[in-house]
Amino acid sequence: MSKSEKLFQRASEIIPGGVNSPVRAFKAVGGVPPFIQSAQGPWLVDVDQRRYIDYVGSWGPMIVGHAHPEVVEAVREAMGRGASYGAPTAAEVQLAEKIIDLVPSMDMVRLVNSGTEATMSAVRLARAVTGRDSLLMFEGCYHGHGDAFLAKAGSGLATFGVPSSPGVPKATVEQTLTLPYNNLDAVIDLFNRHAPGIAAVIVEPVAGNMGCVPPTPGFLQGLGDLCRRHGAILIFDEVMTGFRVARGGAQEYYGITPDLTTLGKIIGGGLPVGAYGGRRDLMGQMAPSGPVYQAGTLSGNPLATAAGLATLDIISRPGFYETLDWRCQRLCDGLSAILTQAGIPHTGTRVGSMFGLFFTDKKPLNNMEDAKTSDLNRFRQWFHGMLREGVYLAPSQFEAGFVSLAHDDAIIDTTLEAAGRVAKTLVS
Ligand SMILES: *Cc1c(COP(=O)(O)O)cnc(C)c1O
Repeated sequence: MSKSEKLFQRASEIIPGGVNSPVRAFKAVGGVPPFIQSAQGPWLVDVDQRRYIDYVGSWGPMIVGHAHPEVVEAVREAMGRGASYGAPTAAEVQLAEKIIDLVPSMDMVRLVNSGTEATMSAVRLARAVTGRDSLLMFEGCYHGHGDAFLAKAGSGLATFGVPSSPGVPKATVEQTLTLPYNNLDAVIDLFNRHAPGIAAVIVEPVAGNMGCVPPTPGFLQGLGDLCRRHGAILIFDEVMTGFRVARGGAQEYYGITPDLTTLGKIIGGGLPVGAYGGRRDLMGQMAPSGPVYQAGTLSGNPLATAAGLATLDIISRPGFYETLDWRCQRLCDGLSAILTQAGIPHTGTRVGSMFGLFFTDKKPLNNMEDAKTSDLNRFRQWFHGMLREGVYLAPSQFEAGFVSLAHDDAIIDTTLEAAGRVAKTLVS
């Protein structure tokens, strides 16, 4: 038995499913996940001393690569000054200023500890300022594990959401309306019927939690127009896309101004951080300057803030995104050419350094229903084939991949060579 297998066995006795977040468990692909011992640049090393080129990047945060010396030094230095004070610090102000400087729509920001906290808080604020309760989200988008987001569309034309997890009160998700991603007509129709109750529309401006699914032209703009017309708050959940698809996130990339934005992942540089912010008149409603409550013992934590600041400093350098995008494009073009040559139906998607590779010939791929046409059996073969070759992909067809600054041309070439060997083994 490998060390990973032994650890997974021990873990499964005492941690539900053996993991602290469900998708790490390899349930969608089968097998035992490698337990990771260390990481450096584009590489992960597991407890059995196997090395992998990593395209998960901790699900998004590691945009400058693992253990980047500047980030390591910043955190080491911060730790030496004490881990947490529960009192304000200069670094929080710097990080807030940096975020506001980079993200076009944000006038004010509040730091929290995870993306989940950011989205929950943004929705609370939207409900508070509109005096409305309903929330519109899109099928296949993920906004963390807050009760309000664990909803799926009810049957038929019913507009009330139903819980997608036991333990979520029916009454909570009755206020959550769910529509297919990229279907603006459905949103228009919904606003026509329910506008006076809709507090907010929350959307991943590039969907990254059903694989990578870009917005169709006009979709985000249409959401913005509808929200403005009907007095609803537009929330861009940029926990994944923020500082990923462009320095100013998807809102900069597509030129759309949301009312509120949620951030996470990259702003923590691998440590637990989230943030939400936006219009000054809205954010001014948050406690203690306003009546809307939200708090956090470890919010703005000195270590997390140090890692975030170091990371944002690196991404601010000239040419960072051009380099990253070019490498991701090379990777995606290469993978696509290999699969085409092997006669494997697939649809590749990419925005910046975020990519998807679906084993379906559905083109364009616009929503969850399209994504679900993927051949999951083939994905499993692909995933395990690549893992054996030393390439670590997300263990689900419905997750995005990420390229980091540490994925240089040689790393991409090695990946493509592995893909060439694996593609030959794929059968339906
Ligand atoms: C990861 C993610 C979240 C949740 O963030 P956590 O830090 O895991 O709570 C929310 N929204 C989006 C778009 C995400 O990708």
